[in-house]
Amino acid sequence: MDLSIVIPLLNEDESLPELCAWIERVMLANNYSYEVILIDDGSTDDSWNVITKLRSANPNIKGIKFQRNYGKSAALNEGFKAAQANVIITMDADMQDSPDEIPELRRMIIEDGFDMVSGWKKKRYDNTLTKNIPSKLFNAAARSMSKIQLHDFNCGLKSYSKKVVKSIEVYGEMHRYVPVLAKWAGFRKIGEKVVEHRARKYGITKFGWSRFVNGFLDLMTIFFVGKFGKRPMHFFGLWGSIFFFLGLGIFTFLTISKFFFDQTGLTQRPLFFFAIMLMIIGSQLFLAGFIGELISRNSPERNNYLIEDKTGL
Ligand code: UDP
Ligand code: MG
Repeated sequence: MDLSIVIPLLNEDESLPELCAWIERVMLANNYSYEVILIDDGSTDDSWNVITKLRSANPNIKGIKFQRNYGKSAALNEGFKAAQANVIITMDADMQDSPDEIPELRRMIIEDGFDMVSGWKKKRYDNTLTKNIPSKLFNAAARSMSKIQLHDFNCGLKSYSKKVVKSIEVYGEMHRYVPVLAKWAGFRKIGEKVVEHRARKYGITKFGWSRFVNGFLDLMTIFFVGKFGKRPMHFFGLWGSIFFFLGLGIFTFLTISKFFFDQTGLTQRPLFFFAIMLMIIGSQLFLAGFIGELISRNSPERNNYLIEDKTGL
């Protein structure tokens, strides 16, 4: 099979028939053998009925229906598990991504040897204030934290080679940072292609203002898990110790100076409270690091390493 096209969707019944017809046109024109995996992420409209109808007309169309809404990441993850082809394409169901981009995205994986290629909505048809400007900021932050040179991390339209999607787990709301997950799994050839973006034709956006808060927190997660996920003590233990010993140093200094130099009571000196605060914060941080370390030691995945190849075994 040449292509698996994975499409997460939530309440997109109006778009689906047009989208699938367009995909089919592109597939026929290029003579691809393919599957379209539609993941209904707990829609409350007619989406699932539409999917079953589409499937009876075209057996290349497959569907997974979630019992409730788990989020785009969960939908992508299930789609990745089910995908069979050597090249996997993801796209949104709202027809903001154009299926005409698929052949070139596939070519870049197969001929140029990219592990994954991310779309770049260079000219974007979304609200400037609520989407375009914040997204530029997020992308700049994600670039500097992950050292992956992409302009548009969260573009729904991407292509992957099979080994990438079978190695990564998209969880929480990490669909915004799939290239980072791929890099963590050891895939370094991450490419970018400018893709056509279109205004939403039917329905409304499924991500409200919460996208900023969650996007920011996930960015922090990416940073901390990537740097200290397997060794929390190196972060919390270090800062905890610095704070604690700084506090202890000041405290010792105050005590000595009270007994030998001036008689001002310890509690009369503001520095005293600062020292106490440092020691408390320091031991709290240390404790957080220690607990983190215990948790990561107990995690069943602590020794799951991705093995690329073996010989003689
Ligand atoms: N989506 C989903 N589950 C969710 C939210 C969104 O499967 O909980 C799908 C949605 O149907 C669409 C894609 O994810 O196919 C992108 O969502 P949307 O177009 O609303 O995001 P935007 O383009 O506004 O960033
Ligand atoms: Mg959209």
